[in-house]
Amino acid sequence: MSWCNRVTGLKKSVFVVAGLNRVMFTRNFSNSPKYNEEEVTRLMKTSKHFYKGLAFTKEERQRLGIHGLLPAVVKTDAEQVDHCLLLLRRLERDLDKYMYLNGLAERNERLFYKVLAADIVNLMPIVYTPTVGLACQNYSLIFEHPKGLYITIKDKGHVYDVLKNWPETDIRAIVVTDGERILGLGDLGANGMGIPVGKMALYSALAGIKPYQCLPITLDVGTNTESILNDPLYIGLRQKRVRGQEYDEFIDEFMKAAVRRFGRNCLIQFEDFGNANAFRLLDKYRNDYCTFNDDIQGTASVALAGILASLRITKTKLKDNKILFQGAGSAALGIANLCVMAMEQEGLSREEAKKNIWLVDSKGLIVKNRPAGGLNDQKLPFAHEHAPVNTLEEAVNTIKPSILVGAAAVAGVFTKDILKKMAEINERPVIFALSNPTSKAECTAQEAYTHTNGKAVFASGSPFDPVTINGKTLHPGQGNNSYIFPGVALGVLAAGMLTIPEEVFLFSAERLAKLCSEEDLEKGSLYPPLTTIRNCSIEIAIAIVEYAWKNNLATVHPKPDDLEAFVKSQVYNLNYPSASLPTW
Ligand code: NAD
Repeated sequence: MSWCNRVTGLKKSVFVVAGLNRVMFTRNFSNSPKYNEEEVTRLMKTSKHFYKGLAFTKEERQRLGIHGLLPAVVKTDAEQVDHCLLLLRRLERDLDKYMYLNGLAERNERLFYKVLAADIVNLMPIVYTPTVGLACQNYSLIFEHPKGLYITIKDKGHVYDVLKNWPETDIRAIVVTDGERILGLGDLGANGMGIPVGKMALYSALAGIKPYQCLPITLDVGTNTESILNDPLYIGLRQKRVRGQEYDEFIDEFMKAAVRRFGRNCLIQFEDFGNANAFRLLDKYRNDYCTFNDDIQGTASVALAGILASLRITKTKLKDNKILFQGAGSAALGIANLCVMAMEQEGLSREEAKKNIWLVDSKGLIVKNRPAGGLNDQKLPFAHEHAPVNTLEEAVNTIKPSILVGAAAVAGVFTKDILKKMAEINERPVIFALSNPTSKAECTAQEAYTHTNGKAVFASGSPFDPVTINGKTLHPGQGNNSYIFPGVALGVLAAGMLTIPEEVFLFSAERLAKLCSEEDLEKGSLYPPLTTIRNCSIEIAIAIVEYAWKNNLATVHPKPDDLEAFVKSQVYNLNYPSASLPTW
């Protein structure tokens, strides 16, 4: 059988964007056209999914008719990866590294993922936070390839048609943003596209979700940021943000069109929507769509995992703790709600559990009938019968929490006095400074350990260097959402779940907490090392598929005999396809 005749189950589509004419292929098992040698040759030579650069063997070069178009050397995969890492190290600015990696992904997608796999700890901050923030701020300037789909409010009424323009048909996962609250950078409009692009790269890099099954989307409804509207290079709609009924109808049309185009089990992850829309849209769609919001639920899960791991040090149950949050936005409320669920599991009623949770927002402690007001539907369930308290310090003195969580992006708010007080009240105070970037952290690791005389059990949103205190060197762990969302996505997709119950985030947290070893705890980290993050994703995915089949939530039939092997078999193959038989 000739090498091209063996390439079956491929569906071809031609993608013409901004002068680019790229040929992409997707699997289609129901329709298995045979392709002639010419087409497959073109695929191998031009598609980023298949291109191998200097790794094409001499035989492949002959077959593909590219002999002489490449220099004589044939490189191994490892040599190619080393070369890319060498080039990256020569670049001084992180934004240049970001652009280099993006270019690589466009030329040779597998090599891009091989490079990420080779140095995930150092490259994750380039592909995602913090560098992706810088990239979004400069997105119109550095824009080269679309990398995702832009659907504007002007497409209202035709969203399905725009989705149909995406050349891949087998889309299983979408990360969507409307660009209103990009990281801590505010409303970046269409420049926010860097976020879904970066998150989707982590789907593939950290959980092996096939890149051609991922679709980053920006819903461009305008921006209220004047500097962006006035930027002559701006790539988005040059108008103020649309809100209200028109916005809601647009989002609704998008959700329905995505399901119509890609099926009910296409996962839709909401990312970096403004606070008011984030909760509202999650509530609206969570029971009918395969959807979750990482800012709320992913954050909650990774933070709860750290808190659960901390209990092994404090030798308490979660229900024995009083948790005080600085902040009452997506992150804090998401964590608070998941903590309530975890305490319910330990036997408390919902009302009893909520008594252990306190939040401080910009108007002070969240209490009933607060003169300052500002209690919305999300905050009200946590409003206690208590006299008004205006500051965090007062709240710490009054509530006497055992766990203090910062998620309000107010830098340095965990002052020396507050940290000292926490150490006075608790044998081992648990301190989470989750705000990003590092400049927004509530306290540094050094401050947390120094002001508690080494007693603090500390984790942060941004990474901190090791700290030596009382002769012991501690390596604080980073509560990075990347420990959770890729694994959740892999599990949900593998089982073909049609909705994602909140419980998924609870047991994902439990599974991640278990992956934190005694050795990690001893070193001062509440999370497993970042180098093991791919393994964490697989473990979480296995927990999810087990849950899905146990609770009749899986739509993949029949149930695989070995769920672990089944999950592992779903993972994207980093090995190059052979020109004699392209595979994924
Ligand atoms: P958000 O805008 O939804 O919420 C911010 C909250 O802080 C609001 O409730 C606001 O009222 C409150 N706030 C503002 N000023 C305050 C003040 N002076 N005192 C008390 N509260 C105040 O933002 P978010 O999505 O919840 O994110 C908050 C922070 O958490 C950001 O820095 C973000 O980077 C970080 N975060 C970290 C992780 C992680 O580490 N894994 C995940 C998500 C978010």
